[in-house]
Amino acid sequence: MADTATLDRQTTGLSLDRFPRTPLCHQPTPVEEMPRLSKLLGGPQLFIKRDDCTGLATGGNKTRKLEFLVGEALKAGADMLVTQGAVQSNHVRQTAAAACKVGMKCHVLLERRVPGVDASYEQTGNVLLDTLLGATHEFRPAGLDMNAEAEAVTETLRADGHAPYFIPGGGSNATGALGYASCAQEIVAHCENAGQLFDWLVMATGSTGTQAGLVAGFKALSYDLPVMGVSVRQPHDRQVAAVHGLTLKTLEKLGADPIEVSAIHVDDGYVGEGYGIPAPSTYEAIHLTARQEGILLDPVYSAKGMAGLIGIVRQGFFKPTDKVLFLHTGGATALFAYEDQLIQSIDSTNV
Ligand SMILES: *Cc1c(COP(=O)(O)O)cnc(C)c1O
Repeated sequence: MADTATLDRQTTGLSLDRFPRTPLCHQPTPVEEMPRLSKLLGGPQLFIKRDDCTGLATGGNKTRKLEFLVGEALKAGADMLVTQGAVQSNHVRQTAAAACKVGMKCHVLLERRVPGVDASYEQTGNVLLDTLLGATHEFRPAGLDMNAEAEAVTETLRADGHAPYFIPGGGSNATGALGYASCAQEIVAHCENAGQLFDWLVMATGSTGTQAGLVAGFKALSYDLPVMGVSVRQPHDRQVAAVHGLTLKTLEKLGADPIEVSAIHVDDGYVGEGYGIPAPSTYEAIHLTARQEGILLDPVYSAKGMAGLIGIVRQGFFKPTDKVLFLHTGGATALFAYEDQLIQSIDSTNV
């Protein structure tokens, strides 16, 4: 018999209809097994939720957030989206595509955040797609408060007669995080329909909206699925505090009770030398996942997330019978910006 929490979820869900939303995303995204990778690692049973297949201009996790952000922009009467990211930002590329889909202009600030990059880094991969999608961009040096920079540019554009709508980096505010509360609802529905119970969800965490949205969604649905964020940039304590802060704001937006900081799980052991710099474990994750499962990860986010999953498995953290769901957040278009390093890493990585 269904318990009260299950009945609650089935009758009310998260009532996301209350929020403005623009359809941009293929959903539900598939959940697949990774039997060859599971076997190679000696268990647990690994599954992957394919949010790299959200469909918008090669897809990725930002598309779910943009459904709610663009919904608000349209409601505000905007004619232009303004956002910021690192040079090879997947968020910027998906924002540029979303703007096209709703007939808005798009202007972006690109932070030169990654040192020692290939000559083609500022033209290929996501930057090429931003340009194809008609977004205009300007560069900034590393280390500025990029949201403040982009807000200042938004005000200049407004003064020039545009109607710009500012989206923070990664689409990570409480509005954007609703996209991942929605994904949490989708995962719960999948588990209940397929009779599949996961013990952990593992994913890459950066600007925090994805993890915060998932944690808030599961909490608001009274669903017990712990989420492990593998940091791509910040040390543990800062990432936990940032994810927790946005989770609280998202829960408030949903009208749900707050959650303790102890519910936020982050592993910062796979960052390597820093954001956008692949570590040996990042390359190993790319090569193993490609050759065992035919799935492409990206060198900045999803491969660090997968390196975390592989590392945690090797530490014996999971029971062999556990079922673990990895969230593929997309990003494979950035592979082309790392061409030389990737080719070199094939020889040095023993896969
Ligand atoms: C942005 C991004 C992430 C991280 O998501 P956040 O919501 O910023 O934490 C993970 N993977 C990919 C491919 C991304 O582009």
